[in-house]
Amino acid sequence: MKIGMIGLGAMGMPIAQNLVRADMEVSGYDTVLSQVEAFIQRGGRGCQTLSEAVRDADIILASLPNPGIVENVMTGAEGVLSSCRKGCCILDLSSVDPGTSRRIYETARAKGVYYADAPVSGGVHGAADGTLTIMFGGDSDTWQMVQPVLKIIGKKLVYVGDIGSGDAIKLVNNLLLGCNMAAIAEALTLGRQLGLSLETMEEIISSSSGNSYAFTAKMKPFLLPGQFEGGFATDLQYKDLMLALEAGRETMVPLPMTAVASQVFEASRSMGNGKKDMSSAILLWEKLNK
Ligand code: NAD
Repeated sequence: MKIGMIGLGAMGMPIAQNLVRADMEVSGYDTVLSQVEAFIQRGGRGCQTLSEAVRDADIILASLPNPGIVENVMTGAEGVLSSCRKGCCILDLSSVDPGTSRRIYETARAKGVYYADAPVSGGVHGAADGTLTIMFGGDSDTWQMVQPVLKIIGKKLVYVGDIGSGDAIKLVNNLLLGCNMAAIAEALTLGRQLGLSLETMEEIISSSSGNSYAFTAKMKPFLLPGQFEGGFATDLQYKDLMLALEAGRETMVPLPMTAVASQVFEASRSMGNGKKDMSSAILLWEKLNK
């Protein structure tokens, strides 16, 4: 099976690599040349242009930073839909808003191309291990077509519903992740001011009622060693909270927790932490409490 992979970043690279390992013919493209070169070193076929990566593909995957980029890459003048072949299938693994996926789906359908949203959860480790949770929104025939790929890159595969419904559940999930992380950053700072070590808090909270996925996933690799490289970028978490706030505005659902959490990540970005893991939000409180 021929795969076109657009976006070879923290998630796209290990996803593409798993497909290469499974003997699929993967053509990868990224606007950053060093990412394309790194993909070639991992056994993939690196492409200089988007069109080269997608024109012969049976299935095209995208793992891109935000809805604006996804829409431009798909429907722009030299985008995927101008180069891919009729009857192929595009699966967007990025976290975007449902409206963006619905618009692209309509354009794709008019060109005889299958399109679905399939955002993922499980982070960089889940991408590397092929154990992602994948939330699929789209037509059932598209769901069947992409099974061979989904089974390689994910472990829990869920057909959520029509186009955009995978995006909807992903948006709700990441609202919770962002709110949890914002609360963890301030809670740990208070603990430290009260004389507790991070190690003590990790030991107790990880088996107490204050535990959460964010706490477990972020303590050992990031918060305990105080290193914030890799992981899930603050900019991306901030983007997801802004998408949730926009969805709340459209549906008249007040989201006060989300609004506060988004301000925490806004402040963290303004400190220069945008590319660091989202748990670097703790640096904000540490700075204020120096
Ligand atoms: P990333 O920034 O590491 O990777 C995105 C890649 O897309 C980069 O390599 C970038 O150069 C490339 N890119 C940007 N514009 C492009 C274009 N026009 N054409 C081709 N390539 C382009 O981000 P990531 O962490 O890999 O996240 C990708 C998506 O997955 C995001 O939507 C994110 O919210 C979502 N996500 C990330 C994680 C995580 O833990 N990192 C987990 C779940 C979901």
